[in-house]
Amino acid sequence: MAAPATPGALDSFTAEQVERARRYHRPLYVLMAVDMALDLAILSLLAFGPPGDWLARLLGSLPFWARAMAWPGVVMTVGWLLGLPLSYWRGYVHEKQWGFSTQTARGWLLDRLKGFAVGLVITVAMLFAFVSIAGAVGEAWPVVVAPGAALVVLFLSFVAPLVLEPIFNKFRPLADVGLTASLRELSERARVPVRDVLVADASRRTRKENAYVSGLGRTRRVVLYDTLVARDDPAYTRLVVAHELGHRRMRHVAAGTLLGMAGAAGSVLVLWALLRSAPVLRAVDATGPGDPRVVPFVLLVVGLLQLFGMPLLSALSRRWESAADRFSLAMTGDLKVFEDSHRALAVSNLSDLDPPRAIYIAMFSHPTPPERIRAGRRWAEAERLSPSVS
Ligand SMILES: [Zn+2]
Repeated sequence: MAAPATPGALDSFTAEQVERARRYHRPLYVLMAVDMALDLAILSLLAFGPPGDWLARLLGSLPFWARAMAWPGVVMTVGWLLGLPLSYWRGYVHEKQWGFSTQTARGWLLDRLKGFAVGLVITVAMLFAFVSIAGAVGEAWPVVVAPGAALVVLFLSFVAPLVLEPIFNKFRPLADVGLTASLRELSERARVPVRDVLVADASRRTRKENAYVSGLGRTRRVVLYDTLVARDDPAYTRLVVAHELGHRRMRHVAAGTLLGMAGAAGSVLVLWALLRSAPVLRAVDATGPGDPRVVPFVLLVVGLLQLFGMPLLSALSRRWESAADRFSLAMTGDLKVFEDSHRALAVSNLSDLDPPRAIYIAMFSHPTPPERIRAGRRWAEAERLSPSVS
């Protein structure tokens, strides 16, 4: 017997819709937790356990540069391979069962391989630099590594739309001339001149609908999934774009990048504090922060910091999403379109309408659709009560 839905969820959705979304999401939450535990267990064993000692003996005779690349390469590959069955079920089997995936298993695997390759190149390069610099600079290594890590985050945020996103999707300008003109008018009124509204070929992977903003400065853009454009509903598309323009206007991408930079630099300081400690170095059997043997430990610490930081980041993200929602409502001025769009989007994407509280606090980047609709009603009400606010 399922728990009854939180009363708020039933304001704008039926009990069947709440229950269906719940059935879709529950196994995913369980597997996500299992996946995370598996990752941390693998890293712990490689940092402190016999598998790590065995690998250290295996790589021991290699020259420094080869060990500095082999450690992150092997650790990442092992983690990826051991996690693959779980991610296959989560990302493919489950999505197929629920009618979202439009891929073949081969296409799915190819995507995973591409994602893994990108992550591998970035991680190996960063950890190679980490141990090389820590070994060469001596005690003051964080002075170089902390700003370096922050700059890598900045660089990735800037080049992601040009270099990383095209690895996974093809982008084309929006073809509908009338809609483009209407969206351009919207962006001018929002005082967010947008260089490009692009359409991504998301439909080769999924039937889910989405949109996002990315890039900094010259690389910034608004991207719509072709699945969303295919709905062919201009009012709906305008509302979604207005929300994304809100993110632009309030500089959420830039703020997120700054936060990522601070997080990267902060992680380096935590690692510095830990790797100065003799008991820590003894436990990981490393001679110092410049010994490639520290790699699994570094990845473990970074993973734990991300895990602990997640509730905070999720809470901030939910605030930004609410602000962008409010902006979209102010720009379009139509509560009915706002409600209908959020309802349609939630139903077709099977968004969780009533997530477990702990999951919501730990990892929800967006308020739930019932919360968003309720907030929209409140704002519309407040606007009517004080019409002088423009
Ligand atoms: Zn958003």
